[in-house]
Amino acid sequence: MNRELYLIAKKDKTHIWHPYTQAKTAAPAIPIARAEGAVLHGMDGKEYLDLISSWWVNLHGHAHPRIAEAIAAQAKTLEQVIFAGFTHQPAVELAARLSALLPADLERVFYSDNGSTAIEVALKVAYQFWKQADSPRKTRFLAFEGGYHGDTVGAMSMGASSGFFGHWKDLLFSITALPYPATWDNDPDVETKEKACLDALEAYLAQYAEETAALIVEPLVQGAAGMRMCRPEFLREVEKRLRAARVLLIFDEVMTGFGRTGDLFACLKSGATPDIICLSKGLSGGFLPLSVTVFRRFLHDAFLGEDFSTALAHGHSFTANPLGCAAALASLELLLEDQTARNIGTIVEKHRERLNGLSHPRLGRTRQCGTIAAVDVLGGRQDYSAQEGQALMRYFMDKGLLIRPLGHVIYLLPPYCVTPEQLDRAYDAIEAGARDILENP
Ligand SMILES: *Cc1c(COP(=O)(O)O)cnc(C)c1O
Repeated sequence: MNRELYLIAKKDKTHIWHPYTQAKTAAPAIPIARAEGAVLHGMDGKEYLDLISSWWVNLHGHAHPRIAEAIAAQAKTLEQVIFAGFTHQPAVELAARLSALLPADLERVFYSDNGSTAIEVALKVAYQFWKQADSPRKTRFLAFEGGYHGDTVGAMSMGASSGFFGHWKDLLFSITALPYPATWDNDPDVETKEKACLDALEAYLAQYAEETAALIVEPLVQGAAGMRMCRPEFLREVEKRLRAARVLLIFDEVMTGFGRTGDLFACLKSGATPDIICLSKGLSGGFLPLSVTVFRRFLHDAFLGEDFSTALAHGHSFTANPLGCAAALASLELLLEDQTARNIGTIVEKHRERLNGLSHPRLGRTRQCGTIAAVDVLGGRQDYSAQEGQALMRYFMDKGLLIRPLGHVIYLLPPYCVTPEQLDRAYDAIEAGARDILENP
């Protein structure tokens, strides 16, 4: 190991607290020197193909020159300004463009810094809205079992059933988690499952509609729960029932936004229109922390009044950071180019072809939503504690592939610049891993 690398490893071990990591048993963190396209270059000269878009944030490849240049230019012009009482062109332009792409009158944009805060803003607005709309009894929240919405207290409360937050369960406010009809390719029971879930929703609403403010859902794909997918039809049926019961619908598109599902947004793909949508991970193309919570017009207008008492008392130091907005504008421009649409189409096709070809008996329940593909490791534990996931991750890393199974779920969620050949490498490794790891545990 060269000296520079040694010093980084040592300082990391002494001073860094890594997310979702047991420091005592984890392998040393891998220092990355630079990245380009879908490839991370380690300081030790090794390359890693980033098949999970660096925790689902990267859209167009790493260090994309057009986004890098947009940030540099913005940094030399206006790096940050207080966003109460002031505004700026990148924030306004980005809000207008997002509004134009989103359905219905989802047109009022509140900026924050990450997915969790985007969720907190959605919850606080939904809660305050009903008070000001003369239904102060509407204070309950609904979510789906397995849903993950972030790591701040409100977001953890909504995602309590995800199983990550046991240490803090006494701190969380109580919500109702409804059953979710997770499905996969050629699932013969999908309609039965959906019906059971809709029945549960109806039974809940029959009793509690007058006390319920909103339901939150990761539309089409529950990410952290293990890429658990549902059909568009299900979301439309949920929407119908919520409208009838006067319950707000919040789409957490923090992961599914910006082309992941094959359409620009899961709401467009599903044909279900939320009242509130949260976007973050892909928003800036994976360059800077930024998020938006976008509201339909009536929600914003319910906060208008003669004094501050009905205003939204929420904000962050870096609300609408100009660098983040400039990155997001550049990323959006790339996303809307024909070449990106073609790339996404190629990924969708490659996933379909290779998922169909997975025949190892320990791989099953293949499923795909646009550029997101997943397959379960069968036969072992069917949750986060599955040992196979860890072993497979090490196996993939040895082959220079960044693929991080979620427990027993192997998934690919690549940046859109990934090539069919690179995806073939990933699928070849999954097949080889099934033979080398799953046959000889
Ligand atoms: C990652 C994620 C969040 C939280 O976003 P952070 O930026 O990590 O706070 C919320 N919802 C979903 C669906 C996510 O995937």
